[in-house]
Amino acid sequence: MLLVVPSMRSCKGRIHSFESFGTLDGPGVRYVVFLQGCPLHCKFCHNPDTWPSNGGTEYTAGAVFDKIMRCRSYIATGGVTLSGGEPLLQAGFCEALLGLLCDAGIHTAIDTSGAIPLNKSSKAIELADMLLLDIKSPCSVACKELTGQGNENALATLEFCESIGKRVWLRHVVVPGITYDEASLIEVGKLAKQYSCVEKLDLLKYHKLGASKWESLGIADPLTNTPALSAEEFAHAKEIVEYNKNKG
Ligand code: SF4
Repeated sequence: MLLVVPSMRSCKGRIHSFESFGTLDGPGVRYVVFLQGCPLHCKFCHNPDTWPSNGGTEYTAGAVFDKIMRCRSYIATGGVTLSGGEPLLQAGFCEALLGLLCDAGIHTAIDTSGAIPLNKSSKAIELADMLLLDIKSPCSVACKELTGQGNENALATLEFCESIGKRVWLRHVVVPGITYDEASLIEVGKLAKQYSCVEKLDLLKYHKLGASKWESLGIADPLTNTPALSAEEFAHAKEIVEYNKNKG
């Protein structure tokens, strides 16, 4: 049990939205808190409306905690996931909310791109039970082209999780013509094999469902001419990754 101090409850953060019955963001049924703000601009982002740090609505950690507790019976076999945007951009707020949740015995996960340097993010990572870490690309140059930032912080985050034995589920979005690339997929598989903290690797299919959001925000969609990943391509990508993850 942590020592919950009053300042934890009053710590303020900006929230994009809530989902009280999430089934895709960690183990079991989860309450998902989508935090506002993201330092990356991934070309395949489904939620570009989360990008501006000054958007969303301001809440205290105590108010968010109270909202979650009203749904506690739904999440008894799951927990709470802090997602975004990039939740660790508001690391202090994450620490406060995670502290409250940890004290209440609720399982917690952070869904992150790992883009935030460890001198800001490590305390929140230590407080969470697990990370869902989205590796945008195993190649830093390709990562910068895809997201606007290299992958050094994400790889350092993975190293940090390994050093403290933090449970990690890796995620990787497969985009035709970008990350649907044999050499890149081999490296993703190897990355999952290399770290014992990685319990699972989820490949995610690029789809076009976010395209309307780019349009409604008046931002040019950089992948407007990129098709969704087909079922065959996805199966092939999975084969490459699984083979390299499991080979002796
Ligand atoms: S890290 Fe997530 S929220 Fe941020 S730009 Fe990338 S996909 Fe969008």
